[in-house]
Amino acid sequence: MADKRDYYEVLGVSKSASDSEIKAAYRKLAKKYHPDTNPGDKEAEAKFKEASEAYAILSDADKRRQYDQFGHAAFDGGAGGGGFDFSGMDMGDIFGDIFGDFFGGGRRSQSSNGPMKGQNVRTSVRITFEEACFGVDKEIDITLKEKCDTCKGTGAKEGTSPETCSKCGGKGQVVFTQQSLFGVVRNVQSCPDCRGTGKIIREKCPDCSGTGYVSRRKKISVSVPAGIDNGQCVRIRDKGEPGVNGGGRGDLLVEILVSRHPIFQRQDRDIYSTSPITFTQAVLGGDVRIKTIDGEVIYTVKPGTQTDTRVRLRNKGVPSLRNKQMRGDHYVTLVVQVPTDLNEEQKELLLNFDKAMYPENEDKDDSPDDKGGKKKNGKKNKKGMFH
Ligand SMILES: [Zn+2]
Ligand SMILES: [Zn+2]
Repeated sequence: MADKRDYYEVLGVSKSASDSEIKAAYRKLAKKYHPDTNPGDKEAEAKFKEASEAYAILSDADKRRQYDQFGHAAFDGGAGGGGFDFSGMDMGDIFGDIFGDFFGGGRRSQSSNGPMKGQNVRTSVRITFEEACFGVDKEIDITLKEKCDTCKGTGAKEGTSPETCSKCGGKGQVVFTQQSLFGVVRNVQSCPDCRGTGKIIREKCPDCSGTGYVSRRKKISVSVPAGIDNGQCVRIRDKGEPGVNGGGRGDLLVEILVSRHPIFQRQDRDIYSTSPITFTQAVLGGDVRIKTIDGEVIYTVKPGTQTDTRVRLRNKGVPSLRNKQMRGDHYVTLVVQVPTDLNEEQKELLLNFDKAMYPENEDKDDSPDDKGGKKKNGKKNKKGMFH
């Protein structure tokens, strides 16, 4: 083993190289010498193995410390020298890390029985348009897994306790060997007998059926921030599934479903609506009441406003999620209402108006049906009086 090259030298990095420098150096070498890119090339294969071995040691903080202290002797392990022993190393993880993105890896294996954060739990809550605009506190009912009180989470019946798994000796992992280009690689997998817990329960706790957890209905308060939009999520930390082997709980993700509003539509922070104005208001101008999310506001319509004119009410839109003071705008489309069902007096007035407005149409035709058509012409002739 004396002629073995220094691991740092193999990777071409300094003794003080950071984890990311080591990783980058290995990636470069692995890509260059990988057997897939150098089929049948023994020298490349040897270099690849050498680099992989160096990386396996230097990427692991514990092993690197041992190597720094004792050199190669740290890993000679008395097994008669020879090949490098990959036992206890999760090659799947190394390949997953390094090759995942450029060799389409995905060889990541089951991890050990170390602490693992619990799964996130998803749920949804429906709120109104206004609640989305201004924020709201909602209480939701959710079923959460909690540690079983009867067995204190062990899963074993009262008076008994879980036994150590004989297959894995309580480690939660089993090692199996596999022939590979490193020679025999020992791969670590989650123990099938105890499913990685390291414990076997002979007599199950009746309250949790041996799982150690019970489901409980809980009320959780969700603080929905002002400005949230349909489909966005509020994250509530530590209200997801319990962690495994001492890991923390996952999070609760609450999807916000915003109900449609009968008159308002929303696009990002802007609100859109339509508002009717009378024929007279359109012609002469005047004040109209317009509904906004802040209540009614008075808007002064300009004389000669055409139908479908869009006006902007500044800062009457939805507040920004980040800053409540920053609001979008509210765009209102003014729709002119053409009066219907006029009585005789009103018709008379309108006809008089017409005569005053379009004198050239006088005494051409009296039939009301034709009048409409003439009016239209008159309007055009009048060089855009209405425009
Ligand atoms: Zn229990
Ligand atoms: Zn086991």
